[in-house]
Amino acid sequence: ERVGFAVVGLGRIAVNEMLPAFARSKHARVTSLVSGDRDKALKIARQYGIPEQAVFDYRDHDRLADHKATQAVYIALPNSMHAEYTVRAAQAGKHVFCEKPMANSVAECQQMIDACAKAQRLLMIAYRSQYEANDRAILKMVRARRLGTLREFISSNCQNQGDPDQWRHKKALAGGGPLPDVGIYCLNAARFLSGEEPVEVIGHTWANPNDPRFREIEEAVHFILRFPSGFTATCTSSYSGHNAKFLRLIGSEAWVELDPAYSYSGIRLRVGRLVDGKDSVQEIALESDDQFVKELDHMAQCVKANRRPHTPGEEGLQDMRVIEAIYQSAREGRPVTLAPPAFSVRGP
Ligand code: NAD
Repeated sequence: ERVGFAVVGLGRIAVNEMLPAFARSKHARVTSLVSGDRDKALKIARQYGIPEQAVFDYRDHDRLADHKATQAVYIALPNSMHAEYTVRAAQAGKHVFCEKPMANSVAECQQMIDACAKAQRLLMIAYRSQYEANDRAILKMVRARRLGTLREFISSNCQNQGDPDQWRHKKALAGGGPLPDVGIYCLNAARFLSGEEPVEVIGHTWANPNDPRFREIEEAVHFILRFPSGFTATCTSSYSGHNAKFLRLIGSEAWVELDPAYSYSGIRLRVGRLVDGKDSVQEIALESDDQFVKELDHMAQCVKANRRPHTPGEEGLQDMRVIEAIYQSAREGRPVTLAPPAFSVRGP
């Protein structure tokens, strides 16, 4: 029996990526929809064979409590709404699979974790890269010490965002600009690939004062993370550069590169190292991979086994602690130290 999910919010990620992923999943299925646009929701319901009685409005979201076929929710709303809908879902007795960024503040992340713990429901944040095959291959190389000692991580995640009126450009809805939206991929990759947590953060933000898109949010962010072993991450992210998504992880014996990294498909992995005393660069072609189905199946299997997800709420909370430190450093013009998390960030 596949685990039944409500899809909450029918925007681009839900409609273009996650609903098709549900259709391919062996462990999860969509059993209900929550949307403010009934016509759109009914059309999607027909397409996916969901009965009309299982299409809810945001106002009657809490009636999900009585919808037994729905065991979990997938939240794909603007960032500022993640906390409210996570808490409401937990109170309605549902497990929560929530899009990144987890929320707009550390305080909201904590409320979400507490609400799910109190209701004894699972909470997973949709860090799809952590389920993606090339990222997993790098993690395996790091753990087998194939890169030697990790020295540096360099990464960029930029996209040129158009419409100034979209929620992504409103601070109250988005929480910030490119940092929580796309820069978070660089930050999260530096953390999960190294397995370390940053102890010092340097941040810098910039916005063109004449560009109407950046009245409330940063246009670009640069940040440096220092980790206990001496490993560092140097990252940039912007809403004004054309689709640059890459990472390079440099160790004492080898480097690995994903270019593109972070994209929905077409990720390419290269490895540079000495082979017989000569510098060699090799492209490693992995089988094409379905990261949306992988993360969804993981959540569904955790629900079935009542097991803590690999990317639980604590993983989202820790990213939010770093994001707050980056903004603080940018505001104050000085490095900010960060205490190690007092909780375990990752599940098995
Ligand atoms: P979107 O704008 O396409 O969709 C947002 C949905 O929320 C729309 O259906 C909209 O109608 C609804 N909504 C409800 N209340 C709203 C309000 N007050 N203002 C604006 N919209 C409102 O956005 P999206 O790109 O689908 O992003 C949704 C979430 O998914 C975000 O948290 C985003 O960070 C995340 N996301 C994740 C990925 C990924 O690869 N994991 C990719 C894109 C987006």
